[in-house]
Amino acid sequence: MSQRVLKAGRSGRKEGSLFVTARRQLTAILVAFVVILYLASAAAIYAWMDRLTMSEIDTLLEVTARPVIHRALLLAATAGVTGSQGVGAPPMQSGSGGTYVVVRAASGAVLYESAPGLSSVFGTPQLSGGALIDTVFWTQGNAQLRVLTQPVIFPDTQGFVTVQVGMNIERQVSDLRLLRQVLITVGILGAVAALLIGFFASNRALKPIARSWQRQRQFVADASHELRTPLAVIQANLDVLLSHAQGSILDNLEWLSNAKAEARRLTKLTDDLLTLAKTDSAQTQIRRDTVDMAGIATRVVEALEPLAEMKGLSLQMEQVGGESERFVVQGDEERLYQLLVIIVDNAIKYTETGSVRLRLSRQRAAVRIDVADTGIGIKKEDLEHVFERFYRGDKARERAQGGTGLGLAIAQWIAEAHNGRILSRSTPGVGSEFSILLPAPSTDTHASLK
Ligand code: ADP
Repeated sequence: MSQRVLKAGRSGRKEGSLFVTARRQLTAILVAFVVILYLASAAAIYAWMDRLTMSEIDTLLEVTARPVIHRALLLAATAGVTGSQGVGAPPMQSGSGGTYVVVRAASGAVLYESAPGLSSVFGTPQLSGGALIDTVFWTQGNAQLRVLTQPVIFPDTQGFVTVQVGMNIERQVSDLRLLRQVLITVGILGAVAALLIGFFASNRALKPIARSWQRQRQFVADASHELRTPLAVIQANLDVLLSHAQGSILDNLEWLSNAKAEARRLTKLTDDLLTLAKTDSAQTQIRRDTVDMAGIATRVVEALEPLAEMKGLSLQMEQVGGESERFVVQGDEERLYQLLVIIVDNAIKYTETGSVRLRLSRQRAAVRIDVADTGIGIKKEDLEHVFERFYRGDKARERAQGGTGLGLAIAQWIAEAHNGRILSRSTPGVGSEFSILLPAPSTDTHASLK
């Protein structure tokens, strides 16, 4: 197992920092997105409220100004357009209901002001025709005033006075200020929340990627290790051959056959690696043909019979039920053949005496194929790992048997690609049983057996 554990070295740290950077970038993108979205909507809300408040104030101002203008006309008529302040009664009570009034003659002279110094706060109006509304600051009263400046023309004399009516808008301004503070506070809290959520969400999103990255790295490390061994053996045997350069081929048959066996192993290993690499990149297409599993099992038995015979094992096949249509599945014939070969080949490989039995049966919506042997068995602690890539119970022995540790990983992928699964049971020293379950089309084609 030791070679399967990746050394946490420089590459591990580099990989770690790669994911930390990716996590930071994802979080930054999320926070930036939330902040921009919030700023835009908060600015729109504030602008809209500001406009609404001001337009309400201005409407109120115009309504309030009407009687003041009327009184101003009276005042001006009494005093003469150029008359002086203090003639007649004041047009309004100063500051009543927060309303401030200044009346000026055409010359700019103040005819009336509702509070002392108010005319200088309002300023000399620069009118070009119509009315004007503006906001002024009154430092003395520590308030903000919205001021309507309205010229009033006398039709008979063509003279005019200017009426300025101001309203204290401190309450509305402070309401808007409060809204601004609320929007800023919510914005800051939102940004902090987005930061935290972004951090945790990106962490969660990256976890499966990090895991599969780690698996891939493990796979490459294991594959290089596995490829190096046969190459080293071939090289060693060729070295021996070279040192026996004078001898005949017959004299050196041992080295040659060693090299050939390793070359064969190398071919199988690269084939298996290629198969798994293709499954990882989802390049492998699984056909969905009508396939008779009884026919495939017969072919597998015929193909592996000589192997079993060589070891003095009996290889038997039994069909529970008889009619072969009971064992029909939808799938890829070639892949299903490969799956069965892997399981039966393992059974023969890891059995020294006794038998290997194949049993086909129906189990509810599935075709079930049990492959039982009387071999060495698998230790309990190994049983849960045997489907992992490059996992071998006893490395030296299984390597000597020609195993690559990839067979069951491929078998499991084939079963799962058919929505099926493989179960395994074993008793060390007694034997093992692998059961393949594949969904049967007649009852439920797409049923997953997981
Ligand atoms: P290998 O090429 O080494 O056989 P597999 O992936 O096919 O690789 O099997 C993984 C490991 O599972 C084997 O190395 C062996 O230890 C164990 N194994 C698989 N099938 C059997 C079996 N029928 N009996 C005993 N051990 C088995």
